[in-house]
Amino acid sequence: ATVEACLKKIEATKHLNAFIEIYEEEALKRAEELDLLSAPAGKLHGVILSVKDVISHKGHGLTAASKILSGFTAIFSATVVERLLAEGAIIIGRVNCDEFAMGSSNENSVYGAVLNAADPSRIPGGSSGGSAVSVQAGLCMASLGSDTGGSVRQPADFCGIVGLKPTYGRVSRYGLIAYASSFDQIGIFATTIPDTALILEVISGADAFDSTVSQEPVPAYATQLISGKKYKIAYFPEALEHESLDPEISAAIQQQLADWTAEGHQVQPVQFDLLDYIVPTYYVLTTAEASSNLSRYDGVKFGYRSPATGLELDDFYKKNRSEGFGKEVKRRILLGNFVLSSGYYDAYFTQAQKVRMILTNRLHLIFKDFDFICLPTAPSVAFKIGEKTTDPIAMYIADIYTVMANLAGIPAISIPKFVHSVQKMPFGVQLMAAPFNELSLLSFCNNNL
Ligand code: GLN
Repeated sequence: ATVEACLKKIEATKHLNAFIEIYEEEALKRAEELDLLSAPAGKLHGVILSVKDVISHKGHGLTAASKILSGFTAIFSATVVERLLAEGAIIIGRVNCDEFAMGSSNENSVYGAVLNAADPSRIPGGSSGGSAVSVQAGLCMASLGSDTGGSVRQPADFCGIVGLKPTYGRVSRYGLIAYASSFDQIGIFATTIPDTALILEVISGADAFDSTVSQEPVPAYATQLISGKKYKIAYFPEALEHESLDPEISAAIQQQLADWTAEGHQVQPVQFDLLDYIVPTYYVLTTAEASSNLSRYDGVKFGYRSPATGLELDDFYKKNRSEGFGKEVKRRILLGNFVLSSGYYDAYFTQAQKVRMILTNRLHLIFKDFDFICLPTAPSVAFKIGEKTTDPIAMYIADIYTVMANLAGIPAISIPKFVHSVQKMPFGVQLMAAPFNELSLLSFCNNNL
């Protein structure tokens, strides 16, 4: 009955464009099978989820919202999908996103933009916009997305729900289409912390198919959430005074910090002078990795192939790629090739790697004295569709508060907290923690939601 209700809602909200494909029959059949069992199938028995179109699910389409993968069907399931299903989850469909997870507004999709359910004239955030809206609009209970530089936290922020990016290496990336492999991490959208914790518990942990996954044991996040503990929270005055930040968001976060102090937490300012280096560093490194990861899409092995005939092999590749990739993806491949090219490699790529190391060390030092760092998730609330499409730099700069966690590989979460008084849109607060400290992060947030 729950699956049917979700299917009805999906049908009724088609204009939001959150779903690319709905697994109607399969979901109904699975729900029936689960109903017949005498005992629960697992920790997620009957939990209905959607999955971003960058995560492999055997037998289903998988396109990264790109023309270049049109018609491609996954031949194996991602580890996360296997684990969800093994615990009794029902996957109701595949959701829209920015092409190859590149973007902050979900406007770069071959399937068209996703609309924010709180105000359909606005973007839902990106790149996991479909995931966010599917949960925001109650079309399913939770969703898996991917977060390379904020793609789970920022859309969660813009849609008024919870978005968690785990520590790099907490969750297997096997079956996740690569954007920037040393940044990518699968993340969770949900409406509550216990739901987020339970899904994290299910999808985390060592995996023979991904050598970058940590052997670190997986706590029973959902049952071990602690309450009543007092924490040490750092904030960066530079971040709250940044020129790009909406003054109302800044004031709300400052009020939140004051409230935490009043509740007995230790809240302290920490000087942080790296803020303006973070976005450039992120875009140098991620475009470099993307240009390499995306070299496999040549139109020969899978996906889109140009109907053009009689071309030499090199021209054939060029034709397939020119026709198959969208504008933003091409921009990033070009940028990536540039920063990796001889003559520029040391000036950009090597330099950016150094900044990444400095930032990581700096954050680790802060976590010697503090449990969390508190930041806004985004400098504004969800903006209007089309508002930033002609200005990619403005779009990149808006990633200022989220990319830090991916550069350093640390866990970060956005939780819904406020509604903007003028724009009437939700926004939240972001907390980051030391590597593998998801339990503290979730425990603290559980008392704050
Ligand atoms: N907006 C960022 C980008 O375009 C983040 C994307 C992501 O996390 N996948 O790269």
